[in-house]
Amino acid sequence: MAEQTLPATGREWHLAARPNGWPVPEDFALVEAPVQAPGAGQIVVRNEFLSVDPYMRGRMNDVKSYVPPFRLGAVMDGGAVGRVVASEAEGFAVGDAVLHGLGWREYATLDAAKSVKVDASLPLQSYLGVLGMTGLTAYAGLLEVGGFKPGDAVFVSGAAGAVGSMVGQIAKLRGASLVVGSAGSDEKVRRLTEDFGFDAAFDYKNGPVAEQLAKVAPEGIDIYFDNVGGEHLEAAIGALKLKGRAVLCGAIAQYNDTNPPIGPRNLALAIGKRLRLEGMLVGDHYGLQPQFVAEVGEWLREGKLVVEDTVVDGFENTADAFLGMLHGANTGKMLVRLNG
Ligand code: NAP
Repeated sequence: MAEQTLPATGREWHLAARPNGWPVPEDFALVEAPVQAPGAGQIVVRNEFLSVDPYMRGRMNDVKSYVPPFRLGAVMDGGAVGRVVASEAEGFAVGDAVLHGLGWREYATLDAAKSVKVDASLPLQSYLGVLGMTGLTAYAGLLEVGGFKPGDAVFVSGAAGAVGSMVGQIAKLRGASLVVGSAGSDEKVRRLTEDFGFDAAFDYKNGPVAEQLAKVAPEGIDIYFDNVGGEHLEAAIGALKLKGRAVLCGAIAQYNDTNPPIGPRNLALAIGKRLRLEGMLVGDHYGLQPQFVAEVGEWLREGKLVVEDTVVDGFENTADAFLGMLHGANTGKMLVRLNG
């Protein structure tokens, strides 16, 4: 494919201010910036899909964490997929589809070695969701961290989201005895049981989580996959059976809190029940990638997995898509599609 002429400028989303509590549109700035020509070993990618993720909220704070904070006045980095439009790198041709981490920008100039070529016969957006970071989080969290075994009863919070909807379906496909989930609307609860194959689900906004969980899993649970923290984690500790496991994947209920959360207040139950509560970061599990792609890819080909992305059109809507995701606007993976 012939090298394309690069535009002089492209748009980027920068962090304009650090939020205190819930982020607002004014915390982000849409900026026109020069598109850098590629140096030796570099490629220029025209992005087609961008990922907006809960962990980005943590990076908006100026605190030490497992990923460095975003810098004020700099681009919001993150997962993106697109096509190479200029290449000075061996093995990378114009038209190749690549995944990279340079985030919220229309054009990304980067060392080719920092990108991953992907098979463009699959929808590119799948590399940010079902076959990407969130899919691997679900797969590794349930199987490797949670030590899932056929016959286990599984409860997952954030169940209608990117990670949660995969956790429930993987548990079912691997032979769970019961899969229950919680989500934040009647419609999501309906989708969980009718479309995603959960045995039961409840809306956590409809009443105490512990009471609602006891109704859908009266005999208790073997694994809790925690995407939410707080009240959900406390309820799950109460419901976990002897030798139960909690996979601590996320705590989205507290990402916008300005005060430290209270609890879980019943942590001492973990002693008598010999529970294992284990934090996880997907980055520790990339060794599982080949097995993950093989097994999940097969389920996809066989039509055994229901994959739903919530796609927001237009680069200019990226910050709104991120804010919407934090408020629960998505079912499945929240993505931004850049206009043709
Ligand atoms: P997601 O679930 O697709 O989207 C976020 C969802 O969180 C929203 O749709 C919303 O759904 C829910 N939510 C927002 N506020 C909530 C609250 N106060 N209580 C309960 N639910 C709330 O996002 P995701 O990418 O799949 O991530 C899910 C979790 O996994 C997050 O906590 C994320 O940080 C974590 N994660 C961790 C790793 C890791 O390596 N440890 C990797 C990826 C993701 P509702 O409408 O149901 O409220």
